[in-house]
Amino acid sequence: MKQIPYAMQWIDGTDVKAVIGALRSDYLTQGSRIAEFEKKVAKYCGVKYAVAVSSGTAALHAACFAAGIKTGDEVITSPITFVASANCILYCGGRPVFADIQEDTINIDPKNIKKKITNKTKAIIPVHFAGQPCDLEEIKAIAEKNDLLIIEDASHALGAEYKGSKIGVCKYSDMTVLSFHAVKNITTGEGGMLLTNNEVYYEKLLMFRTHGITRDPKIMKNQNGGDWYYEMHELGLNYRMTDFQCALGMSQLKKLDKFVERRRKIAKKYTNAFKDSSEINIFEETQEVLSSYHLYVVSVENRRKVFDFMRSFGVLVNVHYLPVYLQPYYQSLGYERGLCPNAEKYYRKCLSIPMYPKMTDEQQDYVIAKLRDVCERIESGCEKCD
Ligand SMILES: *Cc1c(COP(=O)(O)O)cnc(C)c1O
Repeated sequence: MKQIPYAMQWIDGTDVKAVIGALRSDYLTQGSRIAEFEKKVAKYCGVKYAVAVSSGTAALHAACFAAGIKTGDEVITSPITFVASANCILYCGGRPVFADIQEDTINIDPKNIKKKITNKTKAIIPVHFAGQPCDLEEIKAIAEKNDLLIIEDASHALGAEYKGSKIGVCKYSDMTVLSFHAVKNITTGEGGMLLTNNEVYYEKLLMFRTHGITRDPKIMKNQNGGDWYYEMHELGLNYRMTDFQCALGMSQLKKLDKFVERRRKIAKKYTNAFKDSSEINIFEETQEVLSSYHLYVVSVENRRKVFDFMRSFGVLVNVHYLPVYLQPYYQSLGYERGLCPNAEKYYRKCLSIPMYPKMTDEQQDYVIAKLRDVCERIESGCEKCD
């Protein structure tokens, strides 16, 4: 039996052709496709500046650098996210502070953010979990009152909308981070991007992406260098994206709206299928947002059993996520169990079921039927569900 993954890319002939075109051109990296891709994503999101980087993780690191996060600073983020949303704070010497989630949206709770603010807090990294936008208006109000920066982790949320504008517009934030990893809404294999309307951040991000080096005569310390001359002003990294990845990204971007539309259709079908189920609990979208449905998460009793049975039937369900502070590394830093009760409660029952545009109706019907069957049987005490 063919397995059904929880997520999967959609690569077609036009993508392959675009990449081959780039491979046959003069530039494999640092060519013109990078700026082209950046311009297109910026236009799609309605934001001024975009900087393509080698991964979403690199983008988060660059954002924390540009935000000036340094030793002793605290940055508030969600525990229900991929570890990278918090690791970027550690890279800069800061301390991640976890604010609990809302039970209905699984997103960071603004009320809990308020409680976690101290005089060391410098920024907030809200994560649009599963593609459903956070309460950005509320988070922005808190940030303004306390003089904090906002970096949106929109790794799940390219194509999502909040109060009539696209996620990435940076209307409620200083910077937004995207990921183009293979499971995300569009892919460049590995890759990421930073979006901002702030020119100062933009310049810092560009520099950080390439070792902290500048070739801009306007800001050089030594004005007498020759044409070969460049200066390193910051300790950056090589976080560049290649031109053939940008070619793939541009080709993928053309399909993004269709991808998201298909994801929403799949979500609607799941939501209808499980609406009246007593064993399978769903999370519904709030009124003001349009999720991009990177993931579809349900809540089930006996999650471990449901997980194992579904996998044995070839449905490769997954779990997103163990609260970050429960990771052994974070435990070793002294974070304690019980820190975010809603997050821990959510984690015990959450299950990500297959969600990707390439999934067929038949595959989805199979997932729905199996999940219903498995949950009903476990509920009625049947241990052998074959
Ligand atoms: C995927 C992901 C990242 C990291 O992106 P990479 O491109 O894999 O480095 C960061 N945050 C969240 C929420 C993610 O899902």
